Amino acid sequence: MRIDIATLFPDMCDSVLHESIIGRAITNGHIEIYSHNIRDFTKNKHRRVDDTPYGGGTGMVMQAQPIYDCIMDIAAKHEKKPRIIYMSPQGQTLTQEKVKELAEEDGLILLCGHYEGVDQRVLDELECEELSVGDYVLTGGELPALIVADAVARLQKGVLPNEDAYSIESHFNGLLEYPQYTMPREWRGREVPVELTLGNHEVIAEWQRKAALRVTAEKRPDMHEEYMDRLVQEFWDGFIEEKELDEDTYYAQMFRLGRNEGESNRLLKRVLRGKKRATTCLYTDDILPEKGEYCIITDWDGVPRCVTRVTRVQVISFNEITLQQALKEGEDTTLEAWQETHRAVYINNAEQLGIEFSENTKIVYEEFRVEYKR
Ligand code: SAM
Repeated sequence: MRIDIATLFPDMCDSVLHESIIGRAITNGHIEIYSHNIRDFTKNKHRRVDDTPYGGGTGMVMQAQPIYDCIMDIAAKHEKKPRIIYMSPQGQTLTQEKVKELAEEDGLILLCGHYEGVDQRVLDELECEELSVGDYVLTGGELPALIVADAVARLQKGVLPNEDAYSIESHFNGLLEYPQYTMPREWRGREVPVELTLGNHEVIAEWQRKAALRVTAEKRPDMHEEYMDRLVQEFWDGFIEEKELDEDTYYAQMFRLGRNEGESNRLLKRVLRGKKRATTCLYTDDILPEKGEYCIITDWDGVPRCVTRVTRVQVISFNEITLQQALKEGEDTTLEAWQETHRAVYINNAEQLGIEFSENTKIVYEEFRVEYKR
């Protein structure tokens, strides 16, 4: 890939681009990046490239002619027509998605404005796209162009040691990255999370997956929500496709099991293994589940793990639950054990709802079958 930067300050760009990872990438031929001085293309005998704005106002405006000639000269050096991008606070805001898209191109020309900006006619003539690095204004387009060049260059083959070096990083797949730690194992009383020190790749991967979700939820709830929505939608679409169901098929509920992470994931495992095929809850005025309804069960972090279908719904008194039903709930081995654990939970739930629990209190007993899991 080739990137050209058209600027009034090429030294400013070169000094950054020839350092560190990008500098090595250029030296090793993984990417070509060149800076060009727009001033070299002016036809003005005093080498002027700007003039006062029509209509008045403070500041100067970069003239069309030197920019046009500079860009045409650069474009002629490209084998295929390059994308021409004007770095501008008025442009589309740069995102990792956009970076991925630009990284697929053979060539880019990044035009840096300065002062009040550039004559609109050259932008129109060159059909420039506009790209911004954020909703604030800088003195020139050099820093934004360097940001684009850096972000695009690091996605080129050979620039980083492997694809993992960027594909698990923040923003690549809609999440922020998990926290990183290095030696020593303890510093000022702060320990590295033990999961990262055990040398077990599965444990490490699970910790990193959960930490990325947690960090994103804490720091960027907007991203977390978008990511989870996408995850659920993809999961549901996968189910619909595999079972060849009507696209209008919907799920009545999405929920996680249990009251804490350990319990939730333990119960989920039992559901996935077919050991837990029923669930109970206090009967309230809420709408009852219906036979045939689909539900999504998630893990504690909200990641969808299976689709279930309700096969039976019954409203019965707590003391009418049979051993067979208790066993289908898959948590206890005797009716007495089921009653003991569930009584404690329902007394608590009833208290929160402002009702009194008795052995005759109505509960909803629901049987289900796992239809799809991932
Ligand atoms: N008068 C312009 C306006 O209000 O839209 C701002 C001009 S700015 C002072 C000068 C140059 O810096 C711009 O032409 C552009 O190339 C660059 N620039 C400033 N802020 C930028 C941003 N957020 N993203 C990309 N380029 C920016």
